[in-house]
Amino acid sequence: MSTTTTTTTTMSLKKFMSCVMLDLDGTLLNTDGIVNEVLKVFLGKYGKKWDGRVAYKVVGKTPFEAATAIGVMHLQYRWCNIKALPGANRLIKHLNGHGVPIALASNSPRASVETKISYHLGWKESFSVIIGADEVTIGKPSPEIFLEAAKRLNVEASSCLVIEDSLRVKPLKLENPPDICVPSDSKVANQWNFEKNLKVYRPGVTAGKAAHMTVIAVPSLPKQSNLYKSADEVINSLLDFQPEKWGLPPFQDCITLKPSLTPWIEGTLPIEPWHIGGPVIKGFGRGSKVLGIPTANLTTEGYSNILSEHPSGVYFGWAGLAKQGVHKMVMSIGWNPYFNNTEKTIEPWLLHDFGEDFYGEELRLAIVGYIRPETNFSSLESLIAKIHEDRKFAENALDLPMYAHYKNDPYLTSSLQLNGHQ
Ligand SMILES: [Mg+2]
Repeated sequence: MSTTTTTTTTMSLKKFMSCVMLDLDGTLLNTDGIVNEVLKVFLGKYGKKWDGRVAYKVVGKTPFEAATAIGVMHLQYRWCNIKALPGANRLIKHLNGHGVPIALASNSPRASVETKISYHLGWKESFSVIIGADEVTIGKPSPEIFLEAAKRLNVEASSCLVIEDSLRVKPLKLENPPDICVPSDSKVANQWNFEKNLKVYRPGVTAGKAAHMTVIAVPSLPKQSNLYKSADEVINSLLDFQPEKWGLPPFQDCITLKPSLTPWIEGTLPIEPWHIGGPVIKGFGRGSKVLGIPTANLTTEGYSNILSEHPSGVYFGWAGLAKQGVHKMVMSIGWNPYFNNTEKTIEPWLLHDFGEDFYGEELRLAIVGYIRPETNFSSLESLIAKIHEDRKFAENALDLPMYAHYKNDPYLTSSLQLNGHQ
């Protein structure tokens, strides 16, 4: 399990907010997933490898802006493929259901905002105000877009809670960006250098704070916590948002394992189940050797797009193995910065004593619940203790009927039966 930094949360009420202002790209929509996907293919054509760690440099840009920065034109045709980020539908439905006004404030032109949200059922009618950058004089980081949204909502700026993914890049040499081109021109890929030509800044957080609003940052890529200092709170993903801290109605869907436990912090969150599978590979060896916790590693090859859709953190579900049956499982998704990975990895811990290795066997996972974001630990002992606590949560939660029935998910055994294994 990996150990990255995240902001510690407390349950105390911080302020009373009356409305929420949401950014679109990277906050509600997994724009980065599409950008990553296209950049990988584009750079791959010229023998260059896309490094997910520098992906933060394009977070917050619209697909078109990101495309322009490196000279890829065809991203705009992929808007219909941009998925909602985990927790986005839940958040919109929750706020809307409780009558909390929501404004959608995006740095994209209004028309492209409308197009993007048109692929998501119920979104458009959930927003009291939709405002694009072309409806104000200056887009973020100017506060104008948020102030205009507050005006249209008829609320005080001080009662607005802004949720932003925060990072964005700006070409340092504005007068000399690469020409827009199609990916047939290898010169652009070779000449344009992210590190040299782009500078990270934070238009969303900056704009929200300049508007005298409260701002929550939801960075969707590897933590750059030093860049988020100006935000009032940094959360791992929308799944970790606790509206009650801001005087807004709390979510009701967190499952507390024991009545005495604090909901959410010591509970689990049901998520829309998703699947991932493949042969078990030899991992870094640290699971067994360093932590005493053997994980059944899966290669991320071919799965990076699936992983990009899911925030880093600790999840649980069911695992099916060709010869070993279906078992409970707890797992982490993350970047394992200690090992300097260039891609997100997935590390499932099968909660069963197999007595032998099963490298090469087909492993199928059904992920059904979320436990917590990745956390920073001061010692190896506290990390190991936390992982064992996660194990207990997963084991107990998976006995609950709402999670237990996924043990019969056909995905877990379908290919195994085809191979003659039950
Ligand atoms: Mg954004």
